[in-house]
Amino acid sequence: MNSIASKTPSFLSNPKKHHFIDGEWRPSVSGEVIETRNPSTGEVIATLARGGQADVDVAVASARRAFEGRWSRFTPSQRHALMMKVHDIIEKNGDDLTLLETYDMGSPVSRANSVKDRVLQMIAYFATLTSSCLGETIPNSLPGNYFTMTIKAPLGVIGGIIPWNGPLVSQWWILGGALATGCTVVLKPAEDACLSVLRVAELLVEAGVPKGVVNVVTGLGAEAGAALAAHPDVDKIFFTGSTETGKEIIKASAANMKRLSLELGGKSPDIIFADADLEKAVPGAAMGVFANSGQICFAGTRVFVERKIQNEFVERLASFTKGLNVGNPLDPNVQLGPVVSQRQLDRIMNYIDIGNKEGADLVAGGSRLGAGLAKGYFVEPTVFTNVDNNMRIAREEIFGPVISVVPFDTADEALRLANDTVYGLGGAVWTSNISMATKMMHGIKAGQVWVNCYGLLDVAVGFGGHKQSGYGWKGGSQHVEGFLYPKAVTMNAG
Ligand code: ADP
Repeated sequence: MNSIASKTPSFLSNPKKHHFIDGEWRPSVSGEVIETRNPSTGEVIATLARGGQADVDVAVASARRAFEGRWSRFTPSQRHALMMKVHDIIEKNGDDLTLLETYDMGSPVSRANSVKDRVLQMIAYFATLTSSCLGETIPNSLPGNYFTMTIKAPLGVIGGIIPWNGPLVSQWWILGGALATGCTVVLKPAEDACLSVLRVAELLVEAGVPKGVVNVVTGLGAEAGAALAAHPDVDKIFFTGSTETGKEIIKASAANMKRLSLELGGKSPDIIFADADLEKAVPGAAMGVFANSGQICFAGTRVFVERKIQNEFVERLASFTKGLNVGNPLDPNVQLGPVVSQRQLDRIMNYIDIGNKEGADLVAGGSRLGAGLAKGYFVEPTVFTNVDNNMRIAREEIFGPVISVVPFDTADEALRLANDTVYGLGGAVWTSNISMATKMMHGIKAGQVWVNCYGLLDVAVGFGGHKQSGYGWKGGSQHVEGFLYPKAVTMNAG
């Protein structure tokens, strides 16, 4: 029996895609398009509107009109009810949306249910925040009879620039906060994976979200993305992507001093002590990198292993890695799909080459997959050992399935090496010693630390970056703060 899904996502029945602006499909003003490919086959699956300044202007104007229009009169309870309708329509279309993500960026169908659950949890959680936009009443010392308070007002038009490594999830950090607070949005998804973002925008209107509240402009980062980042009528940019591009966004934001929330790159440490339960630590550390084919910003790509267990750990890690099922993401038995693009594949292969030349020992993977997968962008999950923390493979973000194992002798050395990076997104420790776990938890300089697990995130807890991994907390009850500004009110009470 062939267990490989034979369905194609309904959204691909028309492969000519436009921007989604003011509730309508609109071609780009220039008439130009770009192509998007299925990373499993290299085939073009759709054309996308190539957005530029003129398209961004129209989308921002639509978002501004919607912000000032009937959307501004929705009460918290009406926004909550609407978000629950959105929840239901996304649930109803969940299988089709995750399949679209498989075609667009190679996400394995074996992960579809967990992706769907995560999206639904996010929408349900953000819906609860509609009534959490709280100000304060503040006792004051003003002469006379004055009443003072702060209220929280929605910021306005939010620009969302998102990456290609999981847009079905990442768009909700922006959509959830905007719908909960009454903001409006222009999203610029990444050129390599736009389709689920376009489809969700259409579904939102179907659920009853007023036209213009959510707009999507597709195109290249240097064109549509840069135009959005610099736009004078955008109040805030939520950006997820590379640290390099994050710095460009900071510069572009200066003209109208827009607010920013930046989730940037990482080179996260994963520290394994000799007393760790290797039955859990080996698969935990491996999948802390290999899940989503290594295309995760908080991936624990620098695995620090206490020297006395280095040989055993590396042997087990290499054997686990070689046993992973890499292949057609439509096959439900496949654990790792392709990486998103030829450009990304070339980047990863280049780093593998650099690792070999730098003198690290390659103990698993290292090659592009051929045979039936040769037309797609498949790379073997790869492990280098005896890596020095100063090598480029230990310093630069590869964004692919490549682990660097670095040995250490003492806890202080492990911490020093772990923090010897410009990034600070995530980090983990595996040990059965609670005081060691506590020392590491406090010592790792990152926005997120895991103990005896890796990569678990809950929307109610939230996360954020430190150092050059960015700033701005996502998720948790503080999430709405990123979409609001405080206003102090002083009232003469007579
Ligand atoms: P990657 O190099 O892995 O694609 P990027 O940080 O460049 O990561 O991309 C993340 C998102 O930022 C994408 O949507 C991309 O189109 C967009 N982008 C790229 N360059 C710019 C830019 N100069 N200004 C605004 N957005 C950009």
